[in-house]
Amino acid sequence: MFKVLKVDHIGIAVKDIDEAAKFWEGVLGLKIVAREEVAAQKVITAFIPSGDSEIELLQSTAEDGPIAKFIEAKGEGIQHIALKVDNIEEALAELKEQGVRLIDEKPRGGAGGAQIAFLHPKATGGVLLELCQRD
Ligand code: ZN
Repeated sequence: MFKVLKVDHIGIAVKDIDEAAKFWEGVLGLKIVAREEVAAQKVITAFIPSGDSEIELLQSTAEDGPIAKFIEAKGEGIQHIALKVDNIEEALAELKEQGVRLIDEKPRGGAGGAQIAFLHPKATGGVLLELCQRD
C-alpha cells in the first residue's frame, strides 16, 4: 500500500508570474527558488517554498493550454493540490484497482524532475489532485 507523505505543494494559476511575485515575494517575503518551463503542459512553473510545503505558481505559455483554459473558466486562483507519495506507480495501480478515475494512468515528468499524475476531480470531491514523487 502506498503512503501519502504530505501536502507537497498547492498549485495556483496566474496570468503573469512576475505580477504574482509582487505579492508572494514583495508582500509576504517568500522567495521563488525555481522557475521552469514544462513544455508538455504548456506552462511556466515557479516554486515558492514555505516551511515543509511549497506554493507553485503556474503561468500558461499557450492560449489552448490547461492553465489558460482554467483561468478563462474560473479566473486566477487555486488550480490543484499536490500530495507527495512514496511510490507513484504503486499509488496509480492501487487507485485504478479501487475504481478511482485517473487523468494520468502513468506518471509523467513534472517540474524539477518530479514524477506526477493527476486524479480526476470527479473522483475527489471537486479537487484536482496531483500525486507527485521526487527522489
Ligand atoms: Zn503541481
